[in-house]
Amino acid sequence: MTHDHHDDTAASLQYDASAVSATMRTAPALIDYSPAPETARTPVSESCGLFINGTFVAPRSRRRFETINPATEERLSLIADGGAADVDAAVSAARAALRRWSRTRPEERAKYLFRLARRIQERARELAVLETMDGGKPIRESRDVDIPLVAQHFFHHAGWCDKLRYAFAGADPRPVGVCGQIIPWNFPLLMAAWKLAPALACGNTCVLKPAETTSLTALRLAEILQEIELPPGVVNIVTGAGETGRMLVEHPDVDKIAFTGSTEVGKRIAAACAGTRKRLTLELGGKSANIIFEDAAIDQAIEGIVQGIWFNQGHVCCAGSRLLVQESIADDVAVRLRHRLASLRVGDPLDKNTDVGAINSAAQLATIRRYLEIGRAEGARLEEIPGPPLPERGYWCRPCFFTDVDPSHTIAREEIFGPVLTILTFRTPSEAVERANNTPYGLAAGVWSDKGARIFDVARKLEAGVVWCNTYNQFDAASPFGGYKESGFGREGGMAGLRAYVTL
Ligand code: NAD
Repeated sequence: MTHDHHDDTAASLQYDASAVSATMRTAPALIDYSPAPETARTPVSESCGLFINGTFVAPRSRRRFETINPATEERLSLIADGGAADVDAAVSAARAALRRWSRTRPEERAKYLFRLARRIQERARELAVLETMDGGKPIRESRDVDIPLVAQHFFHHAGWCDKLRYAFAGADPRPVGVCGQIIPWNFPLLMAAWKLAPALACGNTCVLKPAETTSLTALRLAEILQEIELPPGVVNIVTGAGETGRMLVEHPDVDKIAFTGSTEVGKRIAAACAGTRKRLTLELGGKSANIIFEDAAIDQAIEGIVQGIWFNQGHVCCAGSRLLVQESIADDVAVRLRHRLASLRVGDPLDKNTDVGAINSAAQLATIRRYLEIGRAEGARLEEIPGPPLPERGYWCRPCFFTDVDPSHTIAREEIFGPVLTILTFRTPSEAVERANNTPYGLAAGVWSDKGARIFDVARKLEAGVVWCNTYNQFDAASPFGGYKESGFGREGGMAGLRAYVTL
């Protein structure tokens, strides 16, 4: 190809791109679908107990709190608020069950996990509806992402039970003991699966504490554990808020703590475990960079950005919440994003057409709004995309993004944990890497480019536990997940994730 010819092609590509942008300057009309509500109904009992030693029991604390549907603000149930005596009973049950479970033949342990995975598949619809009602995420996500991954995680780990000697060649892997596991509200059942599956596969027993706003699917899982006749005490579920979690962390008879949640709480837990014999893994917050080079397949990248930040209302630890765009295409990307955002449906999470559901809680909505204010006050430009009216009740935030962002702005540094994207620009690959790594976090990153060599070069230099290339937010039970720096330590998933649950 001659230079002249090459230049002509480049010029015509440039022309096409701006023409596309021009047509996108007007927002598309939102297609007026009829409502497509999920019809399955999931009964929820008025009040829930704690799951200790294979049965549901009333909390010895005698305290309960409400769990509500964030899309309607209606009460779904009363949840037990586990106190010191409850945590103690759960830990004792796990300790008593440990001897037998750890000596159960691995092939037998595998059967329980296989049974559990199959039963989750059979009850998938019910679990998806419950997850959406309690957490606010769109039914499409709980149905197509969360619950299938939950089943996959148990299937995957069922396969490991009798192969641990191959995973740790030359060693004699033994269980760690009683595991205290504390999880957040953004992927309630999936986080429970990430914690329980490897622990059980390796012969440990567990005390799981779900997040206070999303306890229902973990408790439904307890019913399934009864159905599959998992021996009593192998898994115990103690609901409650941060104080219940703290009591579990500080309980002297717990051998290992696995925590997923905010960096702030993670640091407190690390301090509490320091100087004790407890083992600890932490999966914490993030402010992940999604890097778009000018040679990227731009429409594909736009979908990746949408998937990276507006999936699950941005309640994703590894959300691509910092978009780094090469300067030459920044305006084009902003125009296309605005256009794409206008086509996202915000509203009833139980409607199968909904793309963006409810914010998980009033407190989280207040946090997001505070960041929107801070962003504006510090001089960034907020791009809000109007849409049809939102439901009168419930907690809602339309997806939006900030341009004119400086790396020193609060919204470019702190985790917002909502559907708010901050867009920064860069000129060269090295500037992209420098900006991406300029954060105390290091959970994930995305790189979009047409050039394989550039992708591998940049990916190698990024300080992030996971780097997605020309895609974003892909998960698999066989693939380890975890952070660098203040995003935590330890891995979950795959062979690497087993390491936290064995002593060698
Ligand atoms: P959070 O830290 O407030 O709460 C997480 C869990 O810890 C809840 O169950 C809570 O009750 C419990 N908890 C609170 N205080 C505690 C204490 N002092 N001791 C023990 N337990 C305590 O976090 P959140 O708001 O529920 O979740 C959002 C955070 O979780 C975000 O920062 C997100 O990035 C992070 N997250 C990380 C991952 C990951 O894999 N790295 C996955 C999901 C969420």
